[in-house]
Amino acid sequence: MTTAHPQHALPSYLNPDDLGPWGVYLQQIDRVTPHLGALSRWVETLKRPKRILTVDVPIERDDGSIAHYEGYRVQHNMSRGPGKGGVRFHQDVTLSEVMALSAWMTVKNAAVNVPYGGAKGGIRVDPKTLSRGELQRLTRRYTSEISLIIGPNKDIPAPDVNTNEQVMAWMMDSYAMIEGNLSTGVVTGKPISLGGSLGRREATGRGVFVVGREAAAQRGVAIDGARVAIQGFGNVGGVAATMFADAGARVVAVQDHTGTVVNEGGLDIAQLHKHVAEAGSVSGFPGAEALLDRDAFWGIESDILIPAALEQQITADNAPRIRTKIILEGANGPTTPEADDILTDKDVLIVPDVLANAGGVTVSYFEWVQDFSSFFWSEDEINARLTHIMQDAFKSVWSVAQEKKVTLRTATFILACTRVLQAREVRGLYP
Ligand code: NAD
Repeated sequence: MTTAHPQHALPSYLNPDDLGPWGVYLQQIDRVTPHLGALSRWVETLKRPKRILTVDVPIERDDGSIAHYEGYRVQHNMSRGPGKGGVRFHQDVTLSEVMALSAWMTVKNAAVNVPYGGAKGGIRVDPKTLSRGELQRLTRRYTSEISLIIGPNKDIPAPDVNTNEQVMAWMMDSYAMIEGNLSTGVVTGKPISLGGSLGRREATGRGVFVVGREAAAQRGVAIDGARVAIQGFGNVGGVAATMFADAGARVVAVQDHTGTVVNEGGLDIAQLHKHVAEAGSVSGFPGAEALLDRDAFWGIESDILIPAALEQQITADNAPRIRTKIILEGANGPTTPEADDILTDKDVLIVPDVLANAGGVTVSYFEWVQDFSSFFWSEDEINARLTHIMQDAFKSVWSVAQEKKVTLRTATFILACTRVLQAREVRGLYP
């Protein structure tokens, strides 16, 4: 199972006309460059991943056949610290996507000021087609192939789409076997019994809620009674839904990969979680109406819209129909640059992914610190520290946006890229 990449005069990852996620990231860097002052002489460093590793991951299937999958680990920038970023198992994973996700991790980690660079990994595989044993063999072989470049002080993977605590436990164990010592800090998002952190599973959704509350206050939207629409009801969207509902918001629509459920009076989120746990998706939830036209989701009126599924969902095509006041980007890269402009012109406040969904990596950082010190914190302490970091980051970004008269996305990039390039400049080039 290999992928062919189109040939360009430029390497594909340097081609700004490539409309893949990496092309979107390059456009975002072009937008921030005029605001970087003298540091802009270093900006090319942000347009070139530091290290790209493509690996062949062969496994023996349960039926005795041999299958090959293509895997990646991209270390985008490590000026401020070791690489950090998740591992995605998905049939549509491409190198362009992993590169963009690694770069957004660089920006995100600098935006919330955790001492990491940016990295990301993935395997081009549909894990639903594998047995548990096959998934374990795939994970272990992938870990062994990338073990050359990962490590607690080098690059620390974590879960992303279709990877979870179990996959992290297999990664940690494989790394421990290869290295001959047990370093729990080589991955985060581990089970609690293996040095995982309390509060990690909910951290991204909680962070989305915390910055959402800040944004709502700036826009004069009361959370109590606010209409919220959410795309994606997994780790991020599901937790965000619970937190908004608990704070009195009405979650009027939820869409997942199978369908959309709506309830004008507000969906019962606890019941919806139970339904998804049993049925595997939101479809068929008795406490709601099904919206048959998937695309109509984007036209539902709301105060807060939370894309929390995949990249490039809000486009020039649906942005004109979106009727909301605030967009909280739970997903990575859900809004294309064209859609960004359309929505900004409509005075929609967009809290960008690199800020809105940084709660996960923030608690991953707490997990790594706890693993190193072998001293574990209470959940209350973790949530309080997370809230503090997310609020601080929002306030810093907000004041840059006001001062420079730019969007929150550009403001976050200004703040983050300045931190990364200052570190680069003060370190200087080797040799
Ligand atoms: P998940 O696998 O737990 O959930 C994904 C959800 O999206 C599911 O409800 C799924 O049904 C839905 N979905 C998938 N395809 C869809 C489609 N075409 N239309 C509508 N819904 C669709 O994943 P997650 O961990 O919640 O991640 C969601 C997004 O958040 C991703 O972009 C991920 O990179 C990003 N993110 C996750 C974390 C984290 O800590 N989990 C941190 C930062 C960013």
